[in-house]
Amino acid sequence: MSRIHVNCQTLFTGLEDQARQQQTLVIENGMFSYVGSRAEAPQPTPGEAVIDAGDHFVMPGLVDVHTHLVFGNAKSEEDIDLHVSPEFRALRGLFFTQHLLAAGYTSVVVPGDAGQCSIAVRNSINAGMFTGPRIAASSNVIANRQSLNDWFPSWVGTPEYFSGRLCATRDEQIGEIRRQAKDGVDVIKIAMDGPHFRPNGEHIAAFTEEETRIMVEEIHRLGKKVAVHAYGREAVLYAAKAGVDVIFHGFFMDDECIEAILKSGSHLAPTFTMLANNVEFAEDYEASTKSGYAAMQRRVIDVGCRNLRRAREAGIPFMTGSDSGFAITPYGEWHAREIEILVDWLGFTPAEALRAATSVSAKMLPASQPVGALEVGRRADFIFVDGSPLENVAILQERSRIRSVYLGGKRVEPTVPGYDPNKVSDFNTVKWSELHTRQRAVEMGKRPARIDQ
Ligand SMILES: [Zn+2]
Repeated sequence: MSRIHVNCQTLFTGLEDQARQQQTLVIENGMFSYVGSRAEAPQPTPGEAVIDAGDHFVMPGLVDVHTHLVFGNAKSEEDIDLHVSPEFRALRGLFFTQHLLAAGYTSVVVPGDAGQCSIAVRNSINAGMFTGPRIAASSNVIANRQSLNDWFPSWVGTPEYFSGRLCATRDEQIGEIRRQAKDGVDVIKIAMDGPHFRPNGEHIAAFTEEETRIMVEEIHRLGKKVAVHAYGREAVLYAAKAGVDVIFHGFFMDDECIEAILKSGSHLAPTFTMLANNVEFAEDYEASTKSGYAAMQRRVIDVGCRNLRRAREAGIPFMTGSDSGFAITPYGEWHAREIEILVDWLGFTPAEALRAATSVSAKMLPASQPVGALEVGRRADFIFVDGSPLENVAILQERSRIRSVYLGGKRVEPTVPGYDPNKVSDFNTVKWSELHTRQRAVEMGKRPARIDQ
Protein backbone atom coordinates (compact mmCIF):
# COMPACT_ATOMS: atom_id res chain seq x y z
CA MET A 1 0.00 0.00 0.00
CA SER A 2 1.53 3.30 -0.97
CA ARG A 3 2.16 5.90 1.65
CA ILE A 4 0.97 9.49 1.91
CA HIS A 5 3.36 12.12 3.28
CA VAL A 6 2.05 15.38 4.71
CA ASN A 7 4.57 18.13 5.33
CA CYS A 8 3.45 20.56 8.01
CA GLN A 9 5.00 23.82 9.12
CA THR A 10 2.82 23.93 12.24
CA LEU A 11 1.19 20.89 13.75
CA PHE A 12 -0.81 20.32 16.93
CA THR A 13 -0.98 16.65 17.93
CA GLY A 14 -4.03 16.99 20.19
CA LEU A 15 -1.96 15.65 23.09
CA GLU A 16 0.40 18.48 23.95
CA ASP A 17 0.49 22.10 25.10
CA GLN A 18 2.39 23.55 22.17
CA ALA A 19 2.30 23.29 18.44
CA ARG A 20 5.32 21.65 16.80
CA GLN A 21 7.20 23.08 13.84
CA GLN A 22 8.51 21.43 10.66
CA GLN A 23 6.79 18.09 11.07
CA THR A 24 5.79 15.30 8.74
CA LEU A 25 2.87 12.89 8.92
CA VAL A 26 3.14 9.58 7.13
CA ILE A 27 -0.04 7.62 6.50
CA GLU A 28 -0.36 3.96 5.59
CA ASN A 29 -3.70 2.19 5.20
CA GLY A 30 -5.51 5.20 6.62
CA MET A 31 -3.46 5.23 9.84
CA PHE A 32 -0.52 7.32 10.95
CA SER A 33 2.72 5.34 10.68
CA TYR A 34 5.00 8.29 11.43
CA VAL A 35 4.47 11.61 13.21
CA GLY A 36 7.61 13.58 13.84
CA SER A 37 10.29 15.90 12.62
CA ARG A 38 10.59 16.38 8.90
CA ALA A 39 14.33 15.80 9.04
CA GLU A 40 13.93 12.26 10.36
CA ALA A 41 10.80 11.34 8.40
CA PRO A 42 10.80 8.35 6.04
CA GLN A 43 11.47 9.66 2.55
CA PRO A 44 8.76 9.27 -0.07
CA THR A 45 9.55 6.69 -2.70
CA PRO A 46 8.71 7.52 -6.32
CA GLY A 47 4.98 7.58 -6.90
CA GLU A 48 4.00 8.20 -3.28
CA ALA A 49 1.78 11.19 -2.63
CA VAL A 50 3.29 14.21 -0.90
CA ILE A 51 0.94 16.86 0.45
CA ASP A 52 2.21 20.25 1.52
CA ALA A 53 0.08 21.80 4.25
CA GLY A 54 1.69 25.17 3.50
CA ASP A 55 1.28 27.60 6.35
CA HIS A 56 -1.94 26.03 7.56
CA PHE A 57 -2.29 24.84 11.15
CA VAL A 58 -2.62 21.05 11.05
CA MET A 59 -4.58 19.42 13.86
CA PRO A 60 -6.73 16.35 14.53
CA GLY A 61 -10.27 16.33 13.18
CA LEU A 62 -12.62 17.65 15.85
CA VAL A 63 -14.89 15.45 17.96
CA ASP A 64 -18.34 16.40 19.24
CA VAL A 65 -19.59 14.02 21.95
CA HIS A 66 -23.12 15.39 21.95
CA THR A 67 -24.81 15.72 18.58
CA HIS A 68 -28.31 14.41 18.04
CA LEU A 69 -27.87 13.28 14.49
CA VAL A 70 -31.48 12.34 13.96
CA PHE A 71 -33.34 15.14 15.77
CA GLY A 72 -33.37 17.15 12.54
CA ASN A 73 -32.87 20.66 14.01
CA ALA A 74 -36.08 20.20 15.95
CA LYS A 75 -38.09 23.08 17.32
CA SER A 76 -39.96 20.97 19.82
CA GLU A 77 -40.20 17.57 21.45
CA GLU A 78 -43.03 16.81 19.02
CA ASP A 79 -40.66 17.55 16.13
CA ILE A 80 -38.19 15.04 17.53
CA ASP A 81 -40.59 12.21 18.15
CA LEU A 82 -43.77 12.58 16.14
CA HIS A 83 -43.62 14.16 12.74
CA VAL A 84 -41.21 12.03 10.73
CA SER A 85 -40.61 8.34 10.31
CA PRO A 86 -37.45 6.65 11.61
CA GLU A 87 -36.50 5.91 7.99
CA PHE A 88 -36.64 9.58 7.06
CA ARG A 89 -34.73 10.52 10.21
CA ALA A 90 -31.88 8.20 9.26
CA LEU A 91 -31.63 9.60 5.73
CA ARG A 92 -31.81 13.12 7.07
CA GLY A 93 -29.08 12.31 9.59
CA LEU A 94 -26.87 11.03 6.80
CA PHE A 95 -27.45 14.29 4.91
CA PHE A 96 -26.46 16.37 7.92
CA THR A 97 -23.24 14.41 8.50
CA GLN A 98 -21.87 16.46 5.61
CA HIS A 99 -22.48 19.66 7.56
CA LEU A 100 -20.39 18.24 10.40
CA LEU A 101 -17.52 17.32 8.08
CA ALA A 102 -17.54 20.77 6.50
CA ALA A 103 -17.18 22.26 9.99
CA GLY A 104 -14.08 20.13 10.63
CA TYR A 105 -15.85 17.56 12.79
CA THR A 106 -14.65 14.12 11.74
CA SER A 107 -16.09 12.19 14.70
CA VAL A 108 -19.34 12.44 16.55
CA VAL A 109 -21.06 10.72 19.45
CA VAL A 110 -24.83 10.47 19.06
CA PRO A 111 -26.31 10.31 22.54
CA GLY A 112 -29.93 9.40 22.16
CA ASP A 113 -31.71 8.48 19.05
CA ALA A 114 -34.66 6.41 17.90
CA GLY A 115 -34.57 2.75 16.97
CA GLN A 116 -31.59 2.09 14.72
CA CYS A 117 -31.25 5.45 12.97
CA SER A 118 -27.70 6.39 13.94
CA ILE A 119 -26.66 2.72 13.82
CA ALA A 120 -27.80 2.63 10.18
CA VAL A 121 -26.01 5.88 9.34
CA ARG A 122 -22.82 4.61 11.01
CA ASN A 123 -22.99 1.24 9.26
CA SER A 124 -23.54 2.76 5.84
CA ILE A 125 -20.51 5.03 6.32
CA ASN A 126 -18.35 2.24 7.75
CA ALA A 127 -19.31 0.04 4.80
CA GLY A 128 -17.95 2.67 2.44
CA MET A 129 -21.33 3.41 0.87
CA PHE A 130 -21.10 7.05 1.93
CA THR A 131 -18.39 9.40 3.15
CA GLY A 132 -19.07 10.69 6.63
CA PRO A 133 -17.65 11.22 10.09
CA ARG A 134 -16.85 8.39 12.50
CA ILE A 135 -19.98 7.78 14.51
CA ALA A 136 -20.48 6.37 17.98
CA ALA A 137 -24.10 5.31 17.59
CA SER A 138 -26.79 4.92 20.18
CA SER A 139 -30.45 4.05 20.34
CA ASN A 140 -33.27 5.23 22.59
CA VAL A 141 -32.47 7.10 25.77
CA ILE A 142 -33.22 5.01 28.82
CA ALA A 143 -35.76 7.06 30.72
CA ASN A 144 -37.88 6.76 33.78
CA ARG A 145 -41.26 8.35 34.43
CA GLN A 146 -40.94 11.74 32.72
CA SER A 147 -37.23 12.09 32.87
CA LEU A 148 -35.72 13.52 29.70
CA ASN A 149 -37.04 11.87 26.50
CA ASP A 150 -40.06 10.50 28.36
CA TRP A 151 -41.40 13.99 27.94
CA PHE A 152 -44.98 13.26 26.96
CA PRO A 153 -47.68 12.39 29.51
CA SER A 154 -47.98 8.87 30.86
CA TRP A 155 -50.99 8.11 28.63
CA VAL A 156 -48.76 8.62 25.59
CA GLY A 157 -45.79 6.63 26.85
CA THR A 158 -42.81 5.92 24.59
CA PRO A 159 -43.84 4.11 21.39
CA GLU A 160 -41.15 2.33 19.38
CA TYR A 161 -40.31 5.32 17.20
CA PHE A 162 -39.74 7.77 20.10
CA SER A 163 -36.26 8.89 21.15
CA GLY A 164 -36.83 7.76 24.71
CA ARG A 165 -37.65 4.34 26.11
CA LEU A 166 -39.58 4.22 29.34
CA CYS A 167 -37.87 1.66 31.57
CA ALA A 168 -39.57 1.97 34.93
CA THR A 169 -38.52 -1.38 36.39
CA ARG A 170 -35.14 -3.05 36.71
CA ASP A 171 -36.15 -5.84 34.37
CA GLU A 172 -37.13 -3.29 31.73
CA GLN A 173 -33.87 -1.41 32.22
CA ILE A 174 -31.72 -4.52 31.80
CA GLY A 175 -33.87 -5.80 28.93
CA GLU A 176 -33.55 -2.53 27.04
CA ILE A 177 -29.77 -2.44 27.54
CA ARG A 178 -29.47 -5.96 26.12
CA ARG A 179 -31.73 -5.09 23.18
CA GLN A 180 -29.59 -2.07 22.32
CA ALA A 181 -26.35 -4.03 22.67
CA LYS A 182 -27.71 -6.68 20.31
CA ASP A 183 -28.68 -4.00 17.79
CA GLY A 184 -25.11 -2.73 17.79
CA VAL A 185 -24.98 0.53 19.71
CA ASP A 186 -21.65 1.95 20.83
CA VAL A 187 -23.09 4.13 23.57
CA ILE A 188 -26.14 3.92 25.80
CA LYS A 189 -27.58 7.09 27.28
CA ILE A 190 -29.44 7.28 30.54
CA ALA A 191 -31.60 10.30 31.41
CA MET A 192 -30.71 10.76 35.07
CA ASP A 193 -32.68 13.88 35.96
CA GLY A 194 -36.29 13.49 37.02
CA PRO A 195 -39.11 16.06 37.00
CA HIS A 196 -39.33 16.23 40.78
CA PHE A 197 -37.59 18.56 43.22
CA ARG A 198 -36.99 18.63 46.96
CA PRO A 199 -38.32 21.58 48.98
CA ASN A 200 -34.80 23.09 48.88
CA GLY A 201 -34.96 23.10 45.07
CA GLU A 202 -32.67 20.14 44.53
CA HIS A 203 -33.42 17.80 41.59
CA ILE A 204 -34.45 14.29 42.55
CA ALA A 205 -32.73 11.73 40.33
CA ALA A 206 -34.91 9.71 37.97
CA PHE A 207 -33.26 6.45 38.99
CA THR A 208 -32.07 5.27 42.38
CA GLU A 209 -28.39 4.86 43.12
CA GLU A 210 -28.76 1.08 42.99
CA GLU A 211 -30.65 1.11 39.68
CA THR A 212 -27.97 3.33 38.20
CA ARG A 213 -25.19 1.04 39.38
CA ILE A 214 -26.90 -2.07 38.00
CA MET A 215 -27.54 -0.44 34.59
CA VAL A 216 -24.01 0.86 34.25
CA GLU A 217 -22.56 -2.51 35.27
CA GLU A 218 -24.61 -4.26 32.62
CA ILE A 219 -23.73 -1.74 29.91
CA HIS A 220 -20.03 -2.09 30.68
CA ARG A 221 -20.32 -5.87 30.94
CA LEU A 222 -21.58 -5.86 27.36
CA GLY A 223 -18.65 -3.70 26.25
CA LYS A 224 -20.60 -0.51 25.61
CA LYS A 225 -20.05 3.01 26.88
CA VAL A 226 -22.44 4.99 29.07
CA ALA A 227 -23.39 8.64 28.75
CA VAL A 228 -25.79 10.32 31.13
CA HIS A 229 -27.80 13.49 31.07
CA ALA A 230 -27.42 14.91 34.59
CA TYR A 231 -27.95 18.49 35.70
CA GLY A 232 -28.80 17.63 39.31
CA ARG A 233 -26.37 16.92 42.14
CA GLU A 234 -27.93 13.58 42.98
CA ALA A 235 -27.99 12.46 39.34
CA VAL A 236 -24.33 13.39 38.91
CA LEU A 237 -23.37 11.62 42.13
CA TYR A 238 -25.14 8.36 41.28
CA ALA A 239 -23.69 8.40 37.77
CA ALA A 240 -20.17 9.10 39.03
CA LYS A 241 -20.33 6.41 41.69
CA ALA A 242 -21.53 3.93 39.07
CA GLY A 243 -18.53 4.83 36.90
CA VAL A 244 -20.22 6.16 33.75
CA ASP A 245 -17.96 7.23 30.89
CA VAL A 246 -19.28 10.74 30.41
CA ILE A 247 -21.59 13.00 32.38
CA PHE A 248 -23.35 15.63 30.28
CA HIS A 249 -23.92 18.99 31.99
CA GLY A 250 -23.16 18.40 35.69
CA PHE A 251 -24.24 21.95 36.45
CA PHE A 252 -25.43 21.39 40.01
CA MET A 253 -22.61 19.15 41.15
CA ASP A 254 -20.91 19.63 44.51
CA ASP A 255 -17.60 18.60 46.06
CA GLU A 256 -18.85 15.09 46.81
CA CYS A 257 -19.65 14.69 43.10
CA ILE A 258 -16.20 16.00 42.15
CA GLU A 259 -14.55 13.46 44.43
CA ALA A 260 -16.70 10.64 43.09
CA ILE A 261 -15.84 11.59 39.49
CA LEU A 262 -12.13 11.77 40.25
CA LYS A 263 -12.36 8.31 41.81
CA SER A 264 -14.34 6.73 38.96
CA GLY A 265 -12.42 8.35 36.11
CA SER A 266 -15.59 9.65 34.44
CA HIS A 267 -15.46 12.65 32.11
CA LEU A 268 -17.53 15.82 32.06
CA ALA A 269 -19.03 17.39 28.96
CA PRO A 270 -20.85 20.57 30.03
CA THR A 271 -22.52 21.13 26.66
CA PHE A 272 -22.96 24.80 27.51
CA THR A 273 -23.36 25.73 23.84
CA MET A 274 -27.05 25.00 23.78
CA LEU A 275 -27.68 27.09 26.89
CA ALA A 276 -25.55 29.92 25.54
CA ASN A 277 -27.56 29.93 22.31
CA ASN A 278 -30.85 29.70 24.18
CA VAL A 279 -29.97 32.77 26.20
CA GLU A 280 -28.46 34.72 23.35
CA PHE A 281 -31.00 34.09 20.63
CA ALA A 282 -34.28 33.23 22.31
CA GLU A 283 -35.11 36.45 24.05
CA ASP A 284 -37.70 37.76 21.60
CA TYR A 285 -39.54 34.50 21.63
CA GLU A 286 -39.18 34.43 25.39
CA ALA A 287 -40.89 37.79 25.69
CA SER A 288 -43.79 36.64 23.53
CA THR A 289 -44.28 33.31 25.27
CA LYS A 290 -43.36 34.29 28.83
CA SER A 291 -42.06 30.75 29.22
CA GLY A 292 -39.14 31.82 31.38
CA TYR A 293 -36.98 29.25 29.59
CA ALA A 294 -34.09 31.52 28.63
CA ALA A 295 -34.09 33.17 32.06
CA MET A 296 -33.92 29.75 33.68
CA GLN A 297 -31.04 28.77 31.38
CA ARG A 298 -29.18 31.93 32.34
CA ARG A 299 -29.40 30.97 36.00
CA VAL A 300 -28.19 27.47 35.20
CA ILE A 301 -25.19 28.94 33.36
CA ASP A 302 -24.28 31.05 36.41
CA VAL A 303 -24.40 28.13 38.82
CA GLY A 304 -22.93 25.68 36.30
CA CYS A 305 -19.92 27.88 35.58
CA ARG A 306 -19.06 28.12 39.26
CA ASN A 307 -19.29 24.37 39.81
CA LEU A 308 -17.60 23.30 36.59
CA ARG A 309 -14.68 25.66 37.20
CA ARG A 310 -14.11 23.84 40.47
CA ALA A 311 -14.32 20.50 38.66
CA ARG A 312 -11.73 21.62 36.17
CA GLU A 313 -9.42 22.91 38.89
CA ALA A 314 -9.78 19.55 40.67
CA GLY A 315 -8.41 17.86 37.55
CA ILE A 316 -11.51 16.24 36.02
CA PRO A 317 -11.04 15.70 32.28
CA PHE A 318 -13.53 17.51 30.03
CA MET A 319 -14.97 16.59 26.65
CA THR A 320 -16.77 18.89 24.23
CA GLY A 321 -20.36 18.54 23.07
CA SER A 322 -22.72 21.06 21.54
CA ASP A 323 -26.18 19.44 21.70
CA SER A 324 -26.49 20.08 17.98
CA GLY A 325 -29.67 18.89 16.30
CA PHE A 326 -32.09 21.45 17.68
CA ALA A 327 -33.34 24.58 15.93
CA ILE A 328 -31.19 26.60 18.35
CA THR A 329 -28.12 24.48 17.50
CA PRO A 330 -28.35 23.46 13.82
CA TYR A 331 -25.88 20.92 12.47
CA GLY A 332 -22.51 22.18 11.41
CA GLU A 333 -22.98 25.64 12.90
CA TRP A 334 -22.14 25.70 16.60
CA HIS A 335 -20.03 22.64 17.46
CA ALA A 336 -16.82 24.62 18.03
CA ARG A 337 -18.53 27.22 20.20
CA GLU A 338 -18.09 24.78 23.09
CA ILE A 339 -14.30 25.08 22.75
CA GLU A 340 -14.54 28.84 23.06
CA ILE A 341 -16.83 28.49 26.07
CA LEU A 342 -14.34 26.22 27.87
CA VAL A 343 -11.75 28.97 27.45
CA ASP A 344 -13.96 32.00 28.17
CA TRP A 345 -16.18 30.64 30.91
CA LEU A 346 -14.20 27.88 32.60
CA GLY A 347 -10.64 29.18 32.35
CA PHE A 348 -9.20 26.52 30.03
CA THR A 349 -6.05 27.36 28.12
CA PRO A 350 -6.60 27.12 24.35
CA ALA A 351 -4.40 23.99 24.19
CA GLU A 352 -6.37 22.36 27.00
CA ALA A 353 -9.67 23.15 25.28
CA LEU A 354 -8.37 21.81 21.96
CA ARG A 355 -7.26 18.59 23.67
CA ALA A 356 -10.74 18.31 25.17
CA ALA A 357 -12.22 18.63 21.65
CA THR A 358 -9.85 16.07 20.15
CA SER A 359 -7.95 13.42 22.11
CA VAL A 360 -10.13 13.51 25.23
CA SER A 361 -13.49 13.48 23.44
CA ALA A 362 -12.22 10.71 21.16
CA LYS A 363 -12.27 8.37 24.16
CA MET A 364 -16.02 8.05 23.60
CA LEU A 365 -15.48 6.51 20.16
CA PRO A 366 -15.36 2.71 19.95
CA ALA A 367 -11.95 1.02 20.22
CA SER A 368 -12.13 0.21 16.51
CA GLN A 369 -11.94 3.95 15.80
CA PRO A 370 -8.75 5.25 17.41
CA VAL A 371 -8.95 8.93 16.50
CA GLY A 372 -8.49 12.33 18.12
CA ALA A 373 -4.71 12.76 17.91
CA LEU A 374 -1.93 12.92 15.40
CA GLU A 375 -0.13 9.87 16.72
CA VAL A 376 1.19 6.62 15.29
CA GLY A 377 -1.51 3.95 15.35
CA ARG A 378 -4.45 6.33 15.14
CA ARG A 379 -6.68 6.90 12.14
CA ALA A 380 -5.44 9.73 9.96
CA ASP A 381 -8.28 12.21 10.49
CA PHE A 382 -7.01 15.77 10.43
CA ILE A 383 -7.84 19.26 9.29
CA PHE A 384 -5.97 22.24 7.87
CA VAL A 385 -6.91 25.48 9.58
CA ASP A 386 -6.20 28.96 8.29
CA GLY A 387 -4.75 30.63 11.41
CA SER A 388 -3.77 29.30 14.82
CA PRO A 389 -6.56 28.16 17.16
CA LEU A 390 -3.89 28.19 19.90
CA GLU A 391 -3.96 31.97 19.56
CA ASN A 392 -7.73 32.23 19.16
CA VAL A 393 -9.94 29.16 19.45
CA ALA A 394 -12.91 31.09 18.07
CA ILE A 395 -11.55 30.86 14.52
CA LEU A 396 -12.65 27.22 14.46
CA GLN A 397 -16.22 28.53 14.16
CA GLU A 398 -15.43 30.31 10.90
CA ARG A 399 -16.23 27.95 8.07
CA SER A 400 -13.78 29.63 5.68
CA ARG A 401 -10.93 28.83 8.09
CA ILE A 402 -11.47 25.07 7.79
CA ARG A 403 -9.46 24.68 4.63
CA SER A 404 -9.19 20.90 4.22
CA VAL A 405 -10.67 17.90 5.97
CA TYR A 406 -9.00 14.49 5.80
CA LEU A 407 -10.57 11.20 6.83
CA GLY A 408 -8.24 8.23 7.01
CA GLY A 409 -5.67 10.20 5.04
CA LYS A 410 -8.09 10.99 2.20
CA ARG A 411 -9.24 14.51 1.54
CA VAL A 412 -13.00 14.84 1.63
CA GLU A 413 -14.97 17.66 0.10
CA PRO A 414 -18.40 17.60 1.69
CA THR A 415 -21.16 19.40 -0.13
CA VAL A 416 -23.64 21.29 1.98
CA PRO A 417 -26.50 22.23 -0.30
CA GLY A 418 -29.24 24.49 0.99
CA TYR A 419 -32.50 22.83 1.96
CA ASP A 420 -36.07 23.75 2.69
CA PRO A 421 -36.48 23.41 6.47
CA ASN A 422 -40.22 22.98 6.05
CA LYS A 423 -39.61 19.76 4.17
CA VAL A 424 -36.60 18.54 6.12
CA SER A 425 -36.83 19.58 9.73
CA ASP A 426 -39.67 21.85 10.58
CA PHE A 427 -42.93 19.97 10.70
CA ASN A 428 -44.32 21.91 13.58
CA THR A 429 -48.07 22.18 13.34
CA VAL A 430 -48.49 25.17 15.64
CA LYS A 431 -50.53 27.73 13.69
CA TRP A 432 -51.65 30.20 16.30
CA SER A 433 -49.46 31.88 18.85
CA GLU A 434 -52.12 33.49 20.99
CA LEU A 435 -55.76 33.57 21.95
CA HIS A 436 -57.72 35.70 19.50
CA THR A 437 -60.61 36.91 21.61
CA ARG A 438 -62.73 39.76 20.26
CA GLN A 439 -60.99 42.01 22.79
CA ARG A 440 -57.63 41.01 21.31
CA ALA A 441 -58.94 41.65 17.79
CA VAL A 442 -59.85 45.18 18.88
CA GLU A 443 -56.37 45.68 20.31
CA MET A 444 -54.94 44.56 17.02
CA GLY A 445 -57.11 47.08 15.15
CA LYS A 446 -58.94 44.31 13.33
CA ARG A 447 -62.35 45.13 14.81
CA PRO A 448 -64.08 48.37 15.81
CA ALA A 449 -63.65 49.25 19.48
CA ARG A 450 -67.21 48.27 20.35
CA ILE A 451 -67.21 45.18 22.51
CA ASP A 452 -70.48 43.45 23.35
CA GLN A 453 -70.93 43.30 27.08
ZN1 LIG B 1 -28.71 16.33 24.29
